Amino acid sequence: MKIPFNKPPYVGTELDYIKQAVQNGRICGDGEFNLKCHEWLENYSGCAKALLTTSCTHALEMAAMLCDIKPGDEIIMPSFTFVSTANAFVLRGAKIVFVDIRPDTMNLDETKLEDAITSKTKAIVPVHYAGVACEMDTILAIAEKHGLYVIEDAAQGMMASYKGKALGTLSHFGCYSFHETKNYSMGEGGALLINKKDFVKRAEIIREKGTNRCEFHRGEVDKYTWVDLGSSYLPSELNAAYLYAQLIESKKILDYRLNCFQFYNEHLETLEQRGLIERPSIPKECKHNAHMFYIKVDSIETRTALLSHLTKSGILAVFHYVPLHVSPVGKIHGRFHGEDRFTTSESNRLIRLPLYYGLEEKDQEFVVQKLNDFF
Ligand SMILES: *Cc1c(COP(=O)(O)O)cnc(C)c1O
Repeated sequence: MKIPFNKPPYVGTELDYIKQAVQNGRICGDGEFNLKCHEWLENYSGCAKALLTTSCTHALEMAAMLCDIKPGDEIIMPSFTFVSTANAFVLRGAKIVFVDIRPDTMNLDETKLEDAITSKTKAIVPVHYAGVACEMDTILAIAEKHGLYVIEDAAQGMMASYKGKALGTLSHFGCYSFHETKNYSMGEGGALLINKKDFVKRAEIIREKGTNRCEFHRGEVDKYTWVDLGSSYLPSELNAAYLYAQLIESKKILDYRLNCFQFYNEHLETLEQRGLIERPSIPKECKHNAHMFYIKVDSIETRTALLSHLTKSGILAVFHYVPLHVSPVGKIHGRFHGEDRFTTSESNRLIRLPLYYGLEEKDQEFVVQKLNDFF
């Protein structure tokens, strides 16, 4: 491929920090770099407590445990999302209730939400697709009225905001991903943002295999022991050091990506005016982070033909997601509430273009040219 779909972000200082982590003589979790990342995330977002995790998947699992999700509980979320959004709750025995998305942002349709609530509903999980926020004021008001937890899947959302507030800080819990396909990376990794102080102590315990080791290290208890359910959700210092290098340069990465987004957006305007594609739309209360640039074409047939045209030119473009409610496991553990008006039809039309830190303008020009050739 001449132009890959993604390249893992690399700013150049990662190896220096990793070296420092090794020289510190402590490469397990919660050393200098884990703590530095926590502090950075707390300062940036304003959350009560940020904890690095081994993935966003694991941050979601922690949130499910913190909400005491039990067999029979129902969790509402969009079907147009990554499997981990649902898996975290299915692992605790919950049923997933999928609701339709809005075609403009591909986010959970807040007007369909209230009708899906039953006496078993425990939580709502909005996914901020492409780093563009869901209509959170409406979602939070509905959650409050019905006494439900809200957990933001903000895997794609770091450095994006809704009405000036960082994604992941609008609800009870926010979950970030630092997978290598995301804007900021540590290979595999993530973070749990805890927005209510009451949950901090238990979150630390769950993350440390169900032990009170964090309190022990702070000298708050004189021995540590098994006090709750938990697992091993803390990443190694090596990964945290890699991430820390990127957090320091987060604005540079953001600006670079925003420029790439802007380039596609400007240069593909004519195709939209000709009625051949649609570009992403960003509601005015949302600041996005250029996690993704996608276009939508008129049908799945056009998409298949366009993807093969791009592949032949050495450009790797991709699509996602197979809606969860039609997946083999989604059918067992979930149900779709109401009509699937947009989830399937809109996901069938979507194509993601190459976008990564370091993508060159001449490559973007080439992508635009090949899109124009096709149409
Ligand atoms: C990437 C992603 C995840 C999973 O993140 P990992 O860090 O790979 O576990 C979950 N939800 C969404 C919406 C994602 O994009």
